[in-house]
Amino acid sequence: MNATILAPIAGLDAFLADAAKLLPTGALLRGEACQPYEADASSCRGQAAAVLLPDDTATVSALMRAAVRHRVRLVPQGNRTGLVGGAVPDGSGRQVVLSLARMRRLRAFDPLNRSAVAEAGMALSELNRLLEPHGLWLPIDVGSDPAIGGLIGANTGGSRLLRHGDVRRNLLGLEIVLADEQGSVLDLLAPLRKRNAGIDLKQLFVGSGGALGVVTAAAWDLKRRDASVLTLLAALPSRAAALDVLDACEQRFGEMLSAFEVMGESALMATLRHFPALRHPLAESAAGCYALVEIASAMPGLDSMLQEQAETLLATLLQRGLLIDAAFGRPDSLWALRDSLPLALAAEGLPLSFDVGLPRSRLPAFHAAAERWLADEHPALRLYDFGHFGDGGCHLIVLLPRECAAGYSPARLAMLKSALYRLVADHGGAFSAEHGVGPLNAAFYRKHTSDAAQELAAGLQRLLDPAAALGRHRYD
Ligand SMILES: Cc1cc2nc3c(=O)[nH]c(=O)nc-3n(C[C@H](O)[C@H](O)[C@H](O)COP(=O)(O)OP(=O)(O)OC[C@H]3O[C@@H](n4cnc5c(N)ncnc54)[C@H](O)[C@@H]3O)c2cc1C
Repeated sequence: MNATILAPIAGLDAFLADAAKLLPTGALLRGEACQPYEADASSCRGQAAAVLLPDDTATVSALMRAAVRHRVRLVPQGNRTGLVGGAVPDGSGRQVVLSLARMRRLRAFDPLNRSAVAEAGMALSELNRLLEPHGLWLPIDVGSDPAIGGLIGANTGGSRLLRHGDVRRNLLGLEIVLADEQGSVLDLLAPLRKRNAGIDLKQLFVGSGGALGVVTAAAWDLKRRDASVLTLLAALPSRAAALDVLDACEQRFGEMLSAFEVMGESALMATLRHFPALRHPLAESAAGCYALVEIASAMPGLDSMLQEQAETLLATLLQRGLLIDAAFGRPDSLWALRDSLPLALAAEGLPLSFDVGLPRSRLPAFHAAAERWLADEHPALRLYDFGHFGDGGCHLIVLLPRECAAGYSPARLAMLKSALYRLVADHGGAFSAEHGVGPLNAAFYRKHTSDAAQELAAGLQRLLDPAAALGRHRYD
C-alpha cells in the first residue's frame, strides 16, 4: 500500500506553525528560498512545502513529534549529492525537507580509540580535514562531498571499498530520532568495536534512505592515513584479463590492494576528448580496458618495496598475456582520469546511468552480454563502463546520441532500463550497488526484491513510523 497517498495533508499549516515556534529565526524556509533544497545530483526535482534547518537533536525530536501529530511527511536531507532522488521531496508541495545542514559539530574525538563522533550535517571533507593533523581519516572515498547523515542514509561505497568497506563497516554508533509520538532519541553512539550485547540496531538505519529514523550523529571507526602508496595504470586486453590481474594483485599484495578501478577503453577515450589537459600515459596501447590500481599501507617506508614487487608482478602478467602495458604515475593525475569520466560521458550525449553490483567473477560475462543486447536491440546507442571492479561495482552508461533522443519516449526508456536490469539479475547482480533506493529506482526495488524481503521491510517501516511521517522512499 502506498502511504504517500494515505498521508493526510490537513495538518500542514498547523505543523508549520508549530515548527516556526521550535526553530530559531531564519531556520524555516518557504517559497523560493526552498529551491536549492528541491533537487539532488540526480535528475530528480520536487517541490517542498518548507525546509527546516534545526540546530540540535532536541529540536529534531520536537519537530518529529509535531510531524507525527499532524501527519506531515519529513524528508531528511544531507548535502544532496545523492543519485537516486532519496533526499528530494515529491512534486506535491506537501512534503517538508528536514535538512541537517546546521548540525555540524564534532562532538567527540578520541585519537587513542581511533574514533570520532560527528553530527549529521558535517561534511565528510570537513571531518577528514579535522582528522588530517592526527594522521587519521574516515576512509569513504567518493568524488562528491556528502554529509554524515547522507552517508548513512545511502550506505555510501566509493573507490576504497575493496580495502576499507562501505559506511556500514566503518560505523561504530548512531544517534537516531525515531518517528514515534515522542520523537524518541535512540542513543547508540558508544564508540565500541566490541559490543555483542543483542541485536545491532544501528545497522537497521544504514542504507535505509532516511525511511526509518533521522540520523543526528554518528560514531566512526577511523583509519590511519596511508604513508606508502603506489599507483599505476594498466592497459589490459579484456575484462576477463582484468579479473585475472585483480586476482594476481590480491595474491601479491593482500589487503594492501586499496583500489582496482576498471575503465572501458571507449570511456577513457571520451574523457580525453573532453578534458584535453589530462595526460594518458598509455595512449599508444590498443587496450580493451584500463585498470587503475592502488596499493597502499599506513606503514611508512614501503615505497621502493611496493615498486619492486609491482614490477615483478607486471613482468609476469606481461608474459602470461594478461597485460599490454603499464605505467606508474602520480596518484592525482591517474585518479583525475577516473574521476573525470562521468562528466565527460554526460557531455557526449544523453546518459542513462546504471549503478549495478555483481559477483566480480561475473563482471566480464555481464559486460559482454550487455554489449550484445545493446547492439541487437538498440544499435544506435553506445555503452560505456567504468567503476569499482575490485568490489563488483559497475557504473554502466547507455548513451543516447542527441540525434536519437526523440526516438526514445519515457515508456521506451523504461523498457530499456527494465531489460538491462533483467540482464543484471540474470547474472546474479543487484540493481543498486552503492547509490541506494529512491524515487529513481523504486520501481526496480519492487521488481527485483523478493515478496518476503519487501514485506519484512514494510513491516519494519510500519513499526518504526506508523504515521508515515518520514522518508521520501516508502517500503510500505
Ligand atoms: C560526483 C559524484 C560522485 C559520487 N560517487 C559515489 C561513489 O563513488 N560511491 C557512492 O556510494 N556514492 C557516490 N555518489 C553518491 C552520493 O555522493 C552518496 O550517495 C552520498 O552518500 C549522499 O550523501 P548526501 O549527504 O549528499 O545525502 P543526500 O543526497 O542529501 O541524501 C541521501 C539519502 O540519505 C538520506 N539522509 C540524508 N541525511 C539523513 C539523515 N540525517 N538521517 C537519515 N537519512 C538521511 C536522504 O533522505 C536520502 O535518502 C556520488 C555522487 C556524485 C555527485
